[in-house]
Amino acid sequence: MNFDYDLFVIGGGSGGVRAARVAAATGAKVALAEEFRMGGTCVIRGCVPKKLMVFASGYSEMFDDARAYGWDVTDGPFEWPRFRSHLHKELDRLEGIYRKLLDNSGVEICDARASLTDAHTVALSSGRTVTAKHILIATGGRPVVPDIPGAALGITSNDIFLLDELPKSILIVGGGYIASEFAGILNGLGVKVTQFYRGAQILRGFDDEARGLVAEGMREKGVNLHLGTNIVEMRAATADDLQDNGMSAPVDQGKPVSAPSGEPAKGIWVKATNGQEAIFDQVMFATGRAPNTENIGLAEAGVQIGRRGEIVVDDYSQTGVPSIYAIGDVTDRVQLTPVAIREAMAFVETVFKGNPTKVDHDLIPSAIFTQPEMGTIGLTEEAARDIEPVEIYCTSFKPMNHAFAGRTDRVMMKLVVSSATRKVLGCHIVADHAGEMIQLAAIAIKMGATKEDFDRTVAVHPTMAEELVTMKDPVRRA
Ligand code: NDP
Repeated sequence: MNFDYDLFVIGGGSGGVRAARVAAATGAKVALAEEFRMGGTCVIRGCVPKKLMVFASGYSEMFDDARAYGWDVTDGPFEWPRFRSHLHKELDRLEGIYRKLLDNSGVEICDARASLTDAHTVALSSGRTVTAKHILIATGGRPVVPDIPGAALGITSNDIFLLDELPKSILIVGGGYIASEFAGILNGLGVKVTQFYRGAQILRGFDDEARGLVAEGMREKGVNLHLGTNIVEMRAATADDLQDNGMSAPVDQGKPVSAPSGEPAKGIWVKATNGQEAIFDQVMFATGRAPNTENIGLAEAGVQIGRRGEIVVDDYSQTGVPSIYAIGDVTDRVQLTPVAIREAMAFVETVFKGNPTKVDHDLIPSAIFTQPEMGTIGLTEEAARDIEPVEIYCTSFKPMNHAFAGRTDRVMMKLVVSSATRKVLGCHIVADHAGEMIQLAAIAIKMGATKEDFDRTVAVHPTMAEELVTMKDPVRRA
């Protein structure tokens, strides 16, 4: 059978764009459909704008630091509109680069929504219908908002980069990557931040000691973090809410609203599970993300969807329909850009280079751009000790640059080591630039380095990371 294309990719995010380009480089005839902006979550409303906001917010502490180091500087207010317009110019530039990369690779771009009509056919919102030998679904995910009264008044991370003005106060709901990163970002930009997390400690699944230190650092910097707390209901604040002014008590960073009696007040009234009530300028939900599997014809094509709404794929990213593959967040394996890119590369190896390649999801390093930042790879202490006897090497100290500036922040370096094999099973760092450090430590750990390999490596002095190779004795065995 003759097809219009060898590969049709649905979704122009990091995974889809990479797969399209690399497949086209093998000589395949490739088209890619994207209904919104090229670049997907990572470039348009995720990693990239988020990291730029992390940089922006980091300056708030630098003025004090600079003065401690002898500079005569004065700080002024953060100007969101100025930053936002610069940010969007940068995102436009990056989107342009993505388009150019596709063009230069010979990939045909379809600015349209695409949905499957059968195992080889895609219908485009532009009215065209095309056929392809292989179809790759890389439609990503989207934020989900819990089903509570008034939740529609809240925003998600999708909206934050588009705000006309920064709120004076915000309630962030959730305790994962996005909630904790934005709590730090907005706090640094001068927004009064309250964070509700329903569990006992934020960043569930990460090393207990590391997430404890992150939470402590966030609180010290001013985030009003409430654990074991969630929203019961929310609604637009009314002037009558003002009469009830006890409401601001311990959830105390919501602000009382001043509006003439009878008129709607600005802000969102929130009732928490602990019975407290407060008003916030904004409420942001960062309560997880769901795969984008709706209305793209999966049922029509016979593609199986799992319990969490994800496309079910095998180790080669192939669905139960042999011509259809899926990669990235839509498969809900590991929701990280570099993982989607790896999955794209493995897909092209398998399908277009005749070299069946499984995606390696083991020992994936990652960074959480909280303030303080966390870098992590491998097993947490808690997970490792359930598997085998381990030795824990850990140090926590005030780094010299912060100590000199009079800051109280502490950093942490931790290695989880197998007692039997001496292999480093996990590494957890809480420190400025922890993401940069963990990338490098991850190479050694992925290679199977032992604690003794770390010890044999000469320290780079004076750095924070030198502690990774100078920890002599375990702090405990478990
Ligand atoms: P996460 O799954 O990390 O966190 C979701 C949070 O919301 C959890 O704390 C969860 O609580 C909480 N939650 C879920 N449902 C509810 C509810 N009904 N009411 C209250 N709280 C709720 O999702 P994120 O949205 O933060 O991030 C999505 C993914 O994006 C991450 O898993 C990560 O892979 C990726 N990401 C990576 C980044 C990075 O690499 N730096 C940055 C940002 C995102 P509980 O713990 O109790 O389930």
